[in-house]
Amino acid sequence: MPGEPAPEPYRVWLSEVMLQQTTVAAVTPRFERFLQKWPTIEALAAARDEDVLSEWAGLGYYARARNLIACAREVAALGDFPDTAAGLRKLPGIGEYTAAAIAAIAFGEPIAVVDTNVARVIIRFAGLESTIEQSRDTIREIVASMTPADRPGDFAQSMMDLGATICRPKSPVCGACPLAEDCVAAASGEPERFPARKQRAARPVRYGIAHWIERNGAIWLVRRPRKGMLGGMAALPGSDWTEEQPKSRSALGHITHDFTHFRLELAVVAHKSATGDGWWQKIDDLVDAGLPTLYRRAVESVFQSRSALAA
Ligand code: SF4
Repeated sequence: MPGEPAPEPYRVWLSEVMLQQTTVAAVTPRFERFLQKWPTIEALAAARDEDVLSEWAGLGYYARARNLIACAREVAALGDFPDTAAGLRKLPGIGEYTAAAIAAIAFGEPIAVVDTNVARVIIRFAGLESTIEQSRDTIREIVASMTPADRPGDFAQSMMDLGATICRPKSPVCGACPLAEDCVAAASGEPERFPARKQRAARPVRYGIAHWIERNGAIWLVRRPRKGMLGGMAALPGSDWTEEQPKSRSALGHITHDFTHFRLELAVVAHKSATGDGWWQKIDDLVDAGLPTLYRRAVESVFQSRSALAA
């Protein structure tokens, strides 16, 4: 929180990585559990990959979890986090924003910290007629010119809070905003018109089949290959995901799941033989398997079809 002593870099880094593309409400309880299990960067660096990936299950964007493990090990080997944004940038999974946020909040580096919320505030404040993408450099320059040498971390967090709670995407509360007097968007009377919207391309569709192999109250699970989508996560076995629609087979369950760059139509079909490296997971203990959201929903779709048939 602004005004409090600088938090440990480990906590700042962990929360920033968890918050990338995931909401505060979803992250908060998971963040606390992570800290209980692995209270220091050294503890996390020493954890087994499978344990970290299972703990991450449900937070999505699993490349982040793999980068988290790699970064923890690199920092543990270095002995500590680098204390500048430039040094932090060299670590796995730390991009420009995350490096700046850690450097400002944990180490007091006076650097521009620009997340989507801050970018929206600045675009409105300066009245820039563009998308956030088109004005990235200008936004960063404006934030840099506003960032104080004293307590830059507090300034960064205040700007992010301002964007999240007052200068919201819809219905900004200009009456409660400390920037209102000089804000171009507020003066225009239509602050929501900023920033310009970017045109969204239609999401392509891919198709996949997941195999449901059940025996004695357990189902066969496998671990996905380390590289690629959901790498290293527990999964139902099945086909590759392709753009070609497979021939229709009677499915036990079906889900549609949106990834960032495509939509997946996944059918769950009964299959006889357990293949590949895997394990029998008791259905009653499925929650311990660390299934990512995609496969949790696929499993639930099978149970829902079953209870609909039984009703
Ligand atoms: S005055 Fe309104 S539009 Fe301008 S920065 Fe504040 S909340 Fe956003």
